[in-house]
Amino acid sequence: ETLDKGLEKSKTSFFSKLSKAVAGKSKVDDEVLDELEEVLVSSDVGVKTTIKIIERIEGRVAKDKYLGTEELNQILREEIANLLSETNVGEAVDFEIPQGKKPYVLMVVGVNGVGKTTTIGKLAHQFKNKGLNVVLGAADTFRAAAIDQLQVWADRVDVPIVKQAMGSDPASVAFDTLQSGVNQNADVIIIDTAGRLHNKVNLMNELTKVKRVMQKVVEDAPHDVLLVLDGSTGQNAFEQAKQFTAATEVNSLAVTKLDGTAKGGVVIGISDQFQIPVKYIGVGEGIEDLQVFNKYEFVDSFFK
Ligand code: GDP
Repeated sequence: ETLDKGLEKSKTSFFSKLSKAVAGKSKVDDEVLDELEEVLVSSDVGVKTTIKIIERIEGRVAKDKYLGTEELNQILREEIANLLSETNVGEAVDFEIPQGKKPYVLMVVGVNGVGKTTTIGKLAHQFKNKGLNVVLGAADTFRAAAIDQLQVWADRVDVPIVKQAMGSDPASVAFDTLQSGVNQNADVIIIDTAGRLHNKVNLMNELTKVKRVMQKVVEDAPHDVLLVLDGSTGQNAFEQAKQFTAATEVNSLAVTKLDGTAKGGVVIGISDQFQIPVKYIGVGEGIEDLQVFNKYEFVDSFFK
């Protein structure tokens, strides 16, 4: 239900554009495909992924000789679901700490404003509700506001937070947090990091150092590097994914603010293009508005 509401704008916009594209047409021809291409690109599916989808539909048109425009919805739904399956992303799995990985260290990256702090707060809430001990680390030390905001979430969720003064070394905060987490017998440690994309080399150096220092406490940390992207920023989100994946190994994605955008197609494009699973989607500002991403539910909700 939250998902349906969260995707409402994207869906309405997509289908109104789609119905304009096929208005007065009974069969899927080149003109309809051109229009469809535009609809997909304008929904931020991304050019490469759009081309893949169009090629698949062209393939079906060629095979079936005739495809009515009223079947287009169903075919799109199938092809998008296939595409997402092939990228092997987004099978919703409830979080469990893998064997021998306690404390589980989750490092969160992303630029300021994308919803990184909010996502960390929502995650901490989910983990805590599962009965897990959570500790937060404020290693995004560049802005005082980032530390304060994380503190606000720590208070709201009622979990401990480790922080230092603004401007302190992110690696040092991460180190302290892991030590504190180990001492407190934490199950999950969430480290907030790098909120700015200064330049690629600096970003890489900073993240590499944070990782190296964390490994002094927990040998195989981080167990997961989660990149947070603002789903309403379209091509910026693609660009940020490009830069962060170049700077560090990113294992999973959280795409936020899908409730505020008509461009939810970004989820399809980003997971396809970067071959990184979208694990979470943000569909509102509230503490409960973070969902474990499930591609089947996503496609269903979109084409329902
Ligand atoms: P950060 O700078 O990346 O840490 O960003 P914040 O977590 O402070 O979030 C920036 C703004 O985006 C805040 O006003 C959040 O309430 C809002 N926000 C975060 N996630 C979502 C979401 O999924 N939906 C909506 N509508 N707003 C969100």
